[in-house]
Amino acid sequence: MGDIGIVGGGVGGLHLALYLQQHGVDAVLYAEKTPEEQRAGRLPNTAAHWASTRARERELQVNHWDGPYDVQCFHIRVYTPDPLVFQANHADPGICVDQRMFLARLQEDFAERGGTIKHGAIQAGDLEPLSEQHDLVVLSTGRGSLTDLFPRMPEHSPYTKPQRVLCTGLYEGITFPQPYGVSFSIAPTVAELFELPYQTFDGTFSSLFFECNPDGPLGHLVNLHYDDDPPAFETEILKGLEQHFPATRERIDTGAFKLHRPLDLLQGAITPTFRRAYGRLPNGHHVLAMGDVHVVQDPLLGQGSNSASAEAFIVGRAIVDELPVYDERFLGKLEARMVAYQADVTAWNNAFLQMPPPFGIAPHAVQFLICCAQNQAVADTLATNFAYPDRAWDIFATPERTRAFLHGKGCQTPLLDAPGPAPDGG
Ligand SMILES: Cc1cc2nc3c(=O)[nH]c(=O)nc-3n(C[C@H](O)[C@H](O)[C@H](O)COP(=O)(O)OP(=O)(O)OC[C@H]3O[C@@H](n4cnc5c(N)ncnc54)[C@H](O)[C@@H]3O)c2cc1C
Repeated sequence: MGDIGIVGGGVGGLHLALYLQQHGVDAVLYAEKTPEEQRAGRLPNTAAHWASTRARERELQVNHWDGPYDVQCFHIRVYTPDPLVFQANHADPGICVDQRMFLARLQEDFAERGGTIKHGAIQAGDLEPLSEQHDLVVLSTGRGSLTDLFPRMPEHSPYTKPQRVLCTGLYEGITFPQPYGVSFSIAPTVAELFELPYQTFDGTFSSLFFECNPDGPLGHLVNLHYDDDPPAFETEILKGLEQHFPATRERIDTGAFKLHRPLDLLQGAITPTFRRAYGRLPNGHHVLAMGDVHVVQDPLLGQGSNSASAEAFIVGRAIVDELPVYDERFLGKLEARMVAYQADVTAWNNAFLQMPPPFGIAPHAVQFLICCAQNQAVADTLATNFAYPDRAWDIFATPERTRAFLHGKGCQTPLLDAPGPAPDGG
């Protein structure tokens, strides 16, 4: 079955390393950070893992955080003039665990079970020697790292610049809505706000994750400097909530509200980019891209970690089940399976990144949300499909599909007009 080199100790690299280990395949993990360095770093994201990823984590026996903070539902609020408010239940719960803690622990699991880890950053120039040491090298180093080998696929990459600017952090002083879930609020054309019950080193705190229209009234949150003046930063966050997300603001105790720790903050922006899944080095060896190296999404629908994990299992199964000959036939077949998964995620995520007037959301998505508020089965399908992005896209791909789904659930509300063509950021 060969000897595999995996570069990158994120969720993709670790899930693949653990999967191969479980199936008796030799693999070396090249991780930039030791577990201690991983734990000591800045908040890398505020990722939720949905049910399909949690099932893979149970299979790998790394489900260390199951328990009372499982995410049972979405609490959804759309700030239209007559706000849409409803709860959407997951068939099986998700979970929100600080990825610094999560990745460090999974590295330790891999090492304790006999896995080999080499620490330090791999440079582009290291890839040729690595490709000669291993039968296959898999690159899973995250967004913006070692991606040059893999050409962008324009047919799946409609945007050439970020569609949102992001500001996420872990905060104290916020009461969780019950049951534990992800609060997903939409202020049309301004921002989306996710509140997650985030399990971190010393307890469970709320993450406030703003996905802002760069040209809207909260676009400046991406450039607010916390370190210069922490109270001013926190006041600005409260002001943004008061103006655009008042129901969240009502659950905050002003005196207790603060960023949990200075490193519990992340700001930035992502250009969604879909790349080829394998590339060729000058020495003729191929390298496989996985996770964010292959496809990076804006985190609007919380799919990147889940996709990295899904890809790890697609790659792992191919290595375990097929002939250990990592040639163009192997890689071409594997890429087709990875693209089949990622194309649906990408189309769904990119569609919801659009902010078409007048609603700021595609009209058939607005219609869907109206039906969610009236029909629990529709709402629960919305939540559950976060774990099954192909099923989500089956419903949202066209207004006709949305209409057929809603009619099948007994919702008779006529569809609003179809949205205009997809805008390009560039
Ligand atoms: C604010 C925010 C919120 C998000 N929310 C969600 C969510 O709710 N659900 C979801 O599924 N996804 C979410 N995502 C996306 C998710 O974080 C990523 O898609 C996911 O982490 C990708 O996993 P990965 O393994 O490909 O890369 P990463 O997690 O980025 O891991 C890459 C690893 O490679 C290492 N590395 C980098 N360069 C090198 C090198 N040269 N040599 C060796 N190692 C290297 C890094 O140290 C890192 O450990 C969110 C992202 C952000 C920014």
